[in-house]
Amino acid sequence: GPRFSALPARDGSQPAPALSFEFFPPRTEALEQQLWACIRRLEPLAPRFVSVTYGAGGSTQERTHATVARIVRETSLTPAAHLTCVGASRGEVDDVARAYWDAGIRHIVALRGDVPGGGAYQPHPQGYAYAADLVAGLKRIADFEISVAAYPEMHPAAASPQADLDNLRRKLDAGANRAITQYFFEAETYLRFIDRCLAAGITAPIVPGIMPVSNFAQAVKFSAMCGARVPAWLGHLFAGLEEDAETRRMVAVVVAAELVRLLQANGVDEFHFYTLNRPDLVYAIAHILGAHARPAAG
Ligand code: FAD
Repeated sequence: GPRFSALPARDGSQPAPALSFEFFPPRTEALEQQLWACIRRLEPLAPRFVSVTYGAGGSTQERTHATVARIVRETSLTPAAHLTCVGASRGEVDDVARAYWDAGIRHIVALRGDVPGGGAYQPHPQGYAYAADLVAGLKRIADFEISVAAYPEMHPAAASPQADLDNLRRKLDAGANRAITQYFFEAETYLRFIDRCLAAGITAPIVPGIMPVSNFAQAVKFSAMCGARVPAWLGHLFAGLEEDAETRRMVAVVVAAELVRLLQANGVDEFHFYTLNRPDLVYAIAHILGAHARPAAG
């Protein structure tokens, strides 16, 4: 159907968006301090939840757990722990999930994961083969809130867009509450995907994953692996700014703000941000969306 091109009002009549922020678990003391400064900076924006990733093949199992447990203990935030099933038996995955539950974590982002170092995916012989099986297994353990991944431009290994949509439906039918998308750079990409989901009878929230990009070369490299198309105009915007990090960051805010405002104009009121443990771009973009810091308690 026709899309709105006018941007929504800024007079405060727009409902505040529902936000979530994604972090990765720190590997060093310095990165730990960076993460916690980031969490503290974003906390006043009162996100619905913050999520902590699970390193390739479960390589960050302890660090993910330690980070979400500290979020439970020390902040007002609701954490979600990512969990993958690649390379692990069902028993091992179940133990991790039970430990999350025992630490007070009630929300899991359930993923298949990838083979560390690349290569064709093979299910573990005693494992959950796909994310849909993992979701069903988690629901047998406890009544977790569960988010799963969705791919507006199709998962790179999917047989077809339709097969990938059927897989998304299996994950939701198995008990997932929402999907969070892989990042994308054009509003149309997401809006067309939502149309296809609705046409297929999928009505669960499909929250757009937003990745503010200030390092174009890095984004090109990463996008090739995860199947996100990088439009030529993005390259033009960053051309000549290779040595000018400050301008790149300002451009990154404008690009992401345009994207989220256009989504907002089309009725999207939930956003998931890939923070890469750096708060400034995300804070500015969330503010532009209408999320204003809540005054500190006390
Ligand atoms: P699935 O939903 O299982 O799908 C994987 C592929 O298999 C798809 O192509 C699907 O179409 C196909 N498929 C599914 N079922 C079948 C079947 N029965 N037969 C044949 N094919 C099938 N990775 C991490 O390691 N740690 C993280 O913390 C992490 N967080 C992420 C967060 C988000 C929001 C997103 C979008 C991705 C994240 N990833 C993470 C990456 C993810 O692990 C990879 O994209 C992975 O390749 C697919 O995971 P999935 O859960 O989408 O898999």
